[in-house]
This record gives sequence, C-alpha cells and structure tokens, in this order.
Amino acid sequence: MKQRRDSSSLITWIFFLSLIGGAIFIYTSSMFNRNAPEVKVDKDGYWNLKDPLHVNIKDQSGIVEYSVTLNVDNQDYVIANEKLMKKENNVSMDVTPPKQLFRLRSDKAKITITARDASKWNFFRGNVTKQEVNLVIDSKRPVVTDLTNSYAIEKGGSALVIFKASDEHLKSVKISTNFGKDFYAQPFVKPGYYIALIAWPITQPNFRATIVAEDMAGNKAEDYVRLYLVDRQYKVSNMEVKDAFLDGKIAQLGDEFPETAGVSDKLEKFKLINETVRAKNEDLIHKITSKVDQKKMIIDFSIKPMYPLVNGAPVASYADHRIYSYNGKVVSEAYHMGLDLASVHQADILTQNPGHVVFASYNGLYGNDPIIDHGLGLYTLYGHCSSLNIAVGDEVKPGQILGKTGMTGYAMGDHLHFGVLVQGVEVRPEEWMDTRWMKLNIEDVIKDGKSIIEKQ
Ligand SMILES: [Zn+2]
Repeated sequence: MKQRRDSSSLITWIFFLSLIGGAIFIYTSSMFNRNAPEVKVDKDGYWNLKDPLHVNIKDQSGIVEYSVTLNVDNQDYVIANEKLMKKENNVSMDVTPPKQLFRLRSDKAKITITARDASKWNFFRGNVTKQEVNLVIDSKRPVVTDLTNSYAIEKGGSALVIFKASDEHLKSVKISTNFGKDFYAQPFVKPGYYIALIAWPITQPNFRATIVAEDMAGNKAEDYVRLYLVDRQYKVSNMEVKDAFLDGKIAQLGDEFPETAGVSDKLEKFKLINETVRAKNEDLIHKITSKVDQKKMIIDFSIKPMYPLVNGAPVASYADHRIYSYNGKVVSEAYHMGLDLASVHQADILTQNPGHVVFASYNGLYGNDPIIDHGLGLYTLYGHCSSLNIAVGDEVKPGQILGKTGMTGYAMGDHLHFGVLVQGVEVRPEEWMDTRWMKLNIEDVIKDGKSIIEKQ
C-alpha cells in the first residue's frame, strides 16, 4: 500500500515537473517566440505619390505570410498578398500608387499591413500583426520666394536673406550652399516668413546659396538667392619662426596641452600647437557658434556697429593666410580668423549690443575667450583676455565691460583677438564695425523685408 502511494506520487511529480519544463521550454524557446512582426511605414504617414512609399516588416522568427492593402474613399486596392515559400526576417516593399489614386484626388488614404510569422506560438498559428496607418496624401510642392536680401556678399563676409515659405505640411526650411554647409532660418514677423544670416567662408573659391523648403511628404521647392559676388583678396604673410619664439611662447604653451606631452622636438611642438591644437580649439568655437533658435520668431533684429576696444588699432588682419618657415623651409600654415586690435595693456573690452554669454573660459590658443550670442546665429568672440567680468548664462547690455585685454593663449603681446561668426563661420569683423555696410546690408534689408511682409 505504502509502496504504491510512493510510486504514484513519484509519477505525479514527474508529470508536473515535465509540464513545468515544457512550459519553460515553450516560453524561452525561439520556436515559440511571442513577438509579433513589426511594421514600419515611411515618412510618418505622409505620401507625395511621386516617391514610392516604403514599407518594412521585420520579425525574429521569420515572416511566412503578409498582405498590404490601400484604402481610399472606402475602396480597397490590394498591393500585395503573399505566402512565402521560405520564411523571411525582413520584408521590404516600395509601394507605388495605383492609377485610380490620381483620379480620386483624395487627400486621405489608409494602408493596412498584415503579417504572420513562423513561430509555433498560438497553438502553432504564429503571431499575427495587423497595422493600419492613416496617410495624408500631399503632392503639392511648398511655395518659396526670396523677398529681399543684401545686394552683395564678399568672400569672407556676411549677407542677410528674408524669404517666404509656405506649405500645409511644412517640415523644414534652410539655405543650402554650393560647399555643403546649410544655414538655418528663424521665423520673421509673421508665420510663413523667415530671416537668415549667411556667410561666405574664406576657404571657398565660389559662393551660391539656395533657399530650400521641404514638406512632410518629401515635396521640395527651391529659390536661388540673387547676390552680387565680390571676390575679395586677402593677405598672405610669410612668417619666419625664430628659436626665441620656439624656446619661449611655444615651450610655455607646450606644457598646457596633452597633444604636446612627451614631444621634445621644438619644431614638432610648434606644428602640433599651430595645427592640431588650433583645429581642436576652433572646432569648439564652431560648435558653440553654430546654434540658431529655429523656433523663435524674430520681430526685430537691430544690431549696432561694433567697436569692442576704444581707440583700438588693428595689429593683424582677418583671414591673413600665415605661412610659417624655419631656416628657410615652409613648416606650417594657418588662417587668422579674427581681427587683432590693441590699445593700452589690460584695456576694457566693451559690447555695443545685447547678447547672451555662451562661453566664458579658457580655450587653448585663444586664451580666455568669451563668446556672446546676439541672436539670428550671430556671435562675437574676444580672445586672449587677461580677466573676465562675465559668466556663461549672463545677459549682457550695450556698453557693458566684458573683461580686459591680455596675452593668454597664443599671443605675443597684449591685444584683443576680435572674432565675428555667423552660424559657425568666421566672417570679416570689419563689416560689422562699418556703419554704412550695416545700414545697407542689415538695417535696410530688414526695413524692406518688413514693408513687403506688411503688404502681403
Ligand atoms: Zn588674433
């Protein structure tokens, strides 16, 4: 009796254990995968009927069956209905619109995608996905018009553009250039109107700018910005590197940078500082000054001519191409991306324009190097300062003293390295210091743009 009870409870135990084991197997085995196929439809549900609509179905255990149906005005159009001989982990499809769709002129459609996978789950029926995606049909291109802009742009200089861009489903507006850099715009005065500063980098032999608007469905429109191009020539300076300079300033700077650690050759140290460290410092400057608030509407952009140093005399020019030689052999080169001004030692540095302090610390060759954001992607930079009166996050007012000139970083004497940047591109500071240039290229363009917009 006792023996029988023991053996029957053992059987019961084995039965339960194998049930649990089986359940664990089903739950963990990839054969019984419980994840249904994943469906993705391109362009967030917008379709221009020109580009094929991209549909992707993905599944771990493999897709064995799928269908794609388009529904417009309560009418179904079967695009695909497939049973696969061999299961697929990925099914991609480019859906082209059926001819009827063009006739219907409906702005709404629905795409239904069903897919079944090879999993043994659901009593061997597999996991099934049925996904409906509502589509907005939009085959209309945005409207883009350049309303007004600066008459000319100089190589190394800036220009202002005011334009109109409209579309029911507008996604982005920008100004593309022939050298791959995009400039971004801010809304101006009224919805549908935009303003942007653009710049011609000194390293680019040509300049061409095109306003580009794109909508959610991928429809694109462009308008070329008509600008008179002025190919300004910049100075090339041959500079002899002296031992006193290598043993002095370069040796001293060499101790600051990890890039020159362990490098004993003084010429090698100079090259690393002039090229590698400079590139790193300028990358940081470009990163900080590239930002534009594309959401913030500009009602007015009033900027006054800049004179950061009272009685400051220019001591080195913007875009000076410096070619360095040592013992008669060219060893390195660099572009001087600002205007050097000097007056007395530790002179006050002033701003004539309001702004927001976005950087206020040490930056390698540029020394103590505050950067101020004046809006619309316009930034000013003040290198080699001996002391600073401002901190990141501060709002500065016209007439405020930012700090004092000095010779921190790569500077041989007390001076201010004044830089002006437009969306990460160093531009000619003299334009922004010239009352006449600013009236013609900024103030008048804004006035003109506003009067055009008010009439529309
Ligand atoms: Zn300088």
